[in-house]
Amino acid sequence: MGQQSDPQIVAQFGLYEDPKLQQFIQEKGQKMAAISHRPNIDYKFKIVDSPVINAFAVPGGYVYFTRGIMAYFNNEAQFAGVLGHEIGHIAARHSAQQQSKAVLAQVGMIAGMVIAPEFAQFSDAASQGVSLLFLKFGRDDERESDMLGVEYSTKIGYDATEMADFFLTLQRQQEQSGTAAVPDFLSTHPNPADRYVRVHELAAEWKLKENVTKAEINRNKYLRMIDGIIFGEDPKQGFVENKVFYHPVLEFQFQISPTWNHMNSPQQVQLAPEDGKAAMIFTLAQGETLEAAAQQMLQQYKLQPVDSKSVTVNGLQALAIVADQQQEQQQQGQQQQQAVRTLTYLIKYKDNIYSFMGITSAENFDAYYETFSNTMQSFKPLTDPVKLNKKAERIRIKTVQQPGTLAQVLKNFKVPETRMQELAILNGMELTDRVEQGMLLKTIGE
Ligand SMILES: [Zn+2]
Repeated sequence: MGQQSDPQIVAQFGLYEDPKLQQFIQEKGQKMAAISHRPNIDYKFKIVDSPVINAFAVPGGYVYFTRGIMAYFNNEAQFAGVLGHEIGHIAARHSAQQQSKAVLAQVGMIAGMVIAPEFAQFSDAASQGVSLLFLKFGRDDERESDMLGVEYSTKIGYDATEMADFFLTLQRQQEQSGTAAVPDFLSTHPNPADRYVRVHELAAEWKLKENVTKAEINRNKYLRMIDGIIFGEDPKQGFVENKVFYHPVLEFQFQISPTWNHMNSPQQVQLAPEDGKAAMIFTLAQGETLEAAAQQMLQQYKLQPVDSKSVTVNGLQALAIVADQQQEQQQQGQQQQQAVRTLTYLIKYKDNIYSFMGITSAENFDAYYETFSNTMQSFKPLTDPVKLNKKAERIRIKTVQQPGTLAQVLKNFKVPETRMQELAILNGMELTDRVEQGMLLKTIGE
């Protein structure tokens, strides 16, 4: 399963480009895999370029951490606990199910999209693989993985009580943001308080069993390693503000209909209304000319052109094509399957041709036509320097100069009032906690 889905996962998110972090997860992962109950499979450990806070195991030996979760750990021991939990799913041969659509929708930016199955053929393979990232294990499996996480992290020398603390951080983060990710180990544990106590007990037991006198936490070492890690969305990959999609690298923008959701991946932007009865897919087209791109597109999706005309989009040369999908090409031979009708704009801009495809049933086509064409007609060059130069936020590690409460120290670091609570959670502390001179703390900067 892992081998099959790995290319999709990597295509969907990209790997986070930070050799020292990738090396760190490899090194700790292999060390832990070697002492696990299944040391002989070919484990792979990767950090993917996603702001979502998640870590997940795909059966077959593949373990992924997002850069989002890496930013939230406060020491190596927390990382090791979660690593052990994920390796545990593989080592104990837990069988995973894909999450329900409702859960996927909660995860927001990755999967806040529901596209009807007959339209999904138009989206890229990578985004179809997204649901693999949110595999769901049963409650008993999660309990067992917690136990194995404690065992494995203790065996490679870490303090497993830190793992319990990290679950609290995740829970606080989720409560505070209301929207962010639901890692598998939170969604399947209805009673976090019990779990916290249990992991603490298990950690104490394993310390005795393994005769651990000095378990590693490695707070400073970990914080220095993640200094500079991107925090939240990376604008370079395109971003949405007030229902406008901006791509500062390719220098274009377009409007998203107020009631539609979006999902951005390196290969395409998908848009869909909440009922999933239509979809729009924005991507780079193949071909040197508009005509060649049109031919390629019709062939690729086995579409029959109904109408085609030259148009201009904010001064840019474009082709607007209405096309139907041939009945006999539809899958599964279902006789009553509705015909699919599409409106595609191919737009020439700079050295590229962009394709905007609106997809719905022939029956609903008239109802969606205006939304399709309004969105496509809103495509234009991006010239606003503020949007062009928008920088990603990054974690910046600072040394405390003057002791005080966390709130006082953050204020000295010029953290705005509105972000105090977020920063407390990110540091795994309360604003009233005492902070000593020389201590390292996370702040957010550019
Ligand atoms: Zn789990």
